[in-house]
Amino acid sequence: MASKQVSRIGVLTSGGDAPGMNAAVRAVVRTGIYHGMEMFGIMRGYNGMIEDEIIPMNSRSVANIIQRGGTILKTARSKEFFEVEGRKKAYDNLLKHGIDGLVIIGGDGSFTGAQKFSNEFDIPCIGLPGTIDKDIAGTDFTIGFDTAVNTAVEAIDKIRDTADAHDRLFIVEVMGRDAGYIALHSGIATGAENILIPETKTDIEELIASLTEKEKRKKLVNLIVVAEGDEFGGANEIAVIIKQRLPNADTKVCILGHIQRGGSPTCIDRLIASRMGYHAVECLLNGKHNVMVGIQNNKMNYIPLDTAVKAKQKISSEWFKIVKILAS
Ligand code: ATP
Repeated sequence: MASKQVSRIGVLTSGGDAPGMNAAVRAVVRTGIYHGMEMFGIMRGYNGMIEDEIIPMNSRSVANIIQRGGTILKTARSKEFFEVEGRKKAYDNLLKHGIDGLVIIGGDGSFTGAQKFSNEFDIPCIGLPGTIDKDIAGTDFTIGFDTAVNTAVEAIDKIRDTADAHDRLFIVEVMGRDAGYIALHSGIATGAENILIPETKTDIEELIASLTEKEKRKKLVNLIVVAEGDEFGGANEIAVIIKQRLPNADTKVCILGHIQRGGSPTCIDRLIASRMGYHAVECLLNGKHNVMVGIQNNKMNYIPLDTAVKAKQKISSEWFKIVKILAS
């Protein structure tokens, strides 16, 4: 797309919320203001574009939010935006406010929507990866992942204390319908004996064999961390199988759930959100359009929105070898 000078930028958060989205909104708004642009907050993701919930923002609008979880702009999933009629309404509202550039903080679905919208209506869009799942290619970090995984680690450490007191086997379910990064990272960081994730085939026989072997040598405290989207289902489904096969094991389930989405963002999430938010505006100013701003090897990386959509990160099999060796 030919670059055109952007002077009025809208920012929105879309899809699942992630801690650090506020820090990103703050960075976008303040960088835009620094460059003399007019800034607008679009409420409730693409719904706000369609329903004209668009508010002017100044430096004070984003005061005292860097440390807050959730998103002051709210977020939503918008059915109407899937249809061209919905996107046309959104475009008309942007025109009404004179908005000529967008920053979308969300996951791959939000980027798909942004790409379509930009192709149809010639509004440059910049995506910032805001998702606790870390399932977007082209970036080593996504806003919210570090906070979510640290929340999981804190919770699992507590579970280990009580598991240890009673010699129990705990199956802890963490978030991740399609992506196992929270499970993998939190599982390794808490010394889990087994980690089950959607990206790899779960071998139940191998899991039972490893638990049986540990039972024989009186290693009775076991932590299994499972992503909610594992092929066998979540923690409840795995527990049913284990209880059938190892009836002597004192097996308990804990599902961490939505606490993983909330809370004050970690320092890392605030840093990457600030850096990415700053670069999103720089992109719009420099005519770099329809890219996602990522960070790779500590450098800014700009990848086309549709590439960020399709590609998923690969999980190295070495991690599983490490888990096996360290949990022996
Ligand atoms: P998360 O990773 O947290 O789920 P996400 O951005 O992937 O975040 P989605 O629910 O997939 O979340 O997408 C958010 C919104 O983006 C959708 O509700 C819809 O409005 C828009 N969107 C997603 N896919 C498309 C599409 N194919 N066409 C148009 N809009 C889309």
